[in-house]
Amino acid sequence: LLSKLPAVGSSIFSQMSQLATEQQAINLSQGFPDFAPDSYLLARLAYHSQQGANQYAPMPGILPLRQQISDLVARCYQRSINPASEITVTSGATEALFVAIQAVVQPGDDVILFDPAYDSYAPAVQLAGGTSIHLSLQAPGFKVDWQQVAAAVTPRTKLIIVNSPHNPSATVFSDTDWQALQQLVCQHGLYCLSDEVYEHMVFDGAPRLSAHCYPALAERSFVVSSFGKTFHVTGWKLGYCIAPPVLSAEFRKIHQYVTFSSFTPAQYAITDMLANYPAHVSGLAAFYQQKRDQFVQALSGSRLRLVPSAGTYFQLADYSLISDMADVEFCRWLTIEHKVAAIPLSVFYRQPPAARLIRFCFAKTPATLSQAAEVLCQL
Ligand code: PMP
Ligand code: GLN
Repeated sequence: LLSKLPAVGSSIFSQMSQLATEQQAINLSQGFPDFAPDSYLLARLAYHSQQGANQYAPMPGILPLRQQISDLVARCYQRSINPASEITVTSGATEALFVAIQAVVQPGDDVILFDPAYDSYAPAVQLAGGTSIHLSLQAPGFKVDWQQVAAAVTPRTKLIIVNSPHNPSATVFSDTDWQALQQLVCQHGLYCLSDEVYEHMVFDGAPRLSAHCYPALAERSFVVSSFGKTFHVTGWKLGYCIAPPVLSAEFRKIHQYVTFSSFTPAQYAITDMLANYPAHVSGLAAFYQQKRDQFVQALSGSRLRLVPSAGTYFQLADYSLISDMADVEFCRWLTIEHKVAAIPLSVFYRQPPAARLIRFCFAKTPATLSQAAEVLCQL
């Protein structure tokens, strides 16, 4: 069989989690919480399933959930979204990203994205027949060079993919970044795919900005988020895409043939959570900031040099004082010899720079974080 994705193997997240399990290592690699979700949320999942919500949900998602999403966007970003025509519930943000890319990218189109990039973007572009153009976030601080982006736009450019708060660098777009993006998208008639799965994890009191805050940009954007991240239930695979009616209509044509609809009881349970516990979402930044601060404090005696984490539940660390191994090798060594698993940064690049950086996930209990830090401080 002629492979449609010849360069793709199993993802680094699968590889490192499998190695961590085999090695009985503390798993700070793949991004997921090691603590239980809210007990009310779990009770509502069981309740709705027992009440009979076990058949297909409507293709775009149950309306009460779309109404709650609309209310959430109004609260967070003061933008009014029509639940009937602008919101589609998906099986995780992963499905939403894939479907949005299939909806706009035609054979011969170019798509601009930024390395280090989340691993699912480029293969989805390739499957749509497009070409991903990989620009690099600039050191120090993993910043977008907007002049470089403007110079990279050609008549073939159809879509630009952004991700703020950013996995894996843990940086967050400023107002200046969003303004520059809006200007570029409007000037060249591009579409934007804004991956905002970590939208509620922005630290140190920084403003929570989104494509929703920039009306001309929002007019041309697919904005994607994930309940897996927001409610500590990555295994539920529930997310959504918000886009103007014309874009949502195209999105839904594809969504209906990828999955048709998403897990029904979870849609009801999340609806109840959003309606009855709005403090969960508004408190998420403080919740994860405390974890970041605990982890950073516990590593202060280590020879890792930490890159500031402004958002997400990830922490980058430079290990060059500890080893001159390449990062993939270093992560395997750390997992096998020291029983702590992390993700090497080079795998997020088409052309990796010569850095020695690894990514830790701090969505973990205080006990897990302190055990891991104790090991890391001895390196
Ligand atoms: N985008 C980014 C940047 C992510 O980190 C993740 C989760 N790993 C996703 C999308 C996918 O989210 P989901 O688990 O809801 O499919
Ligand atoms: N988003 C998660 C991470 O960055 C991984 C999700 C996955 O395994 N596909 O770690």
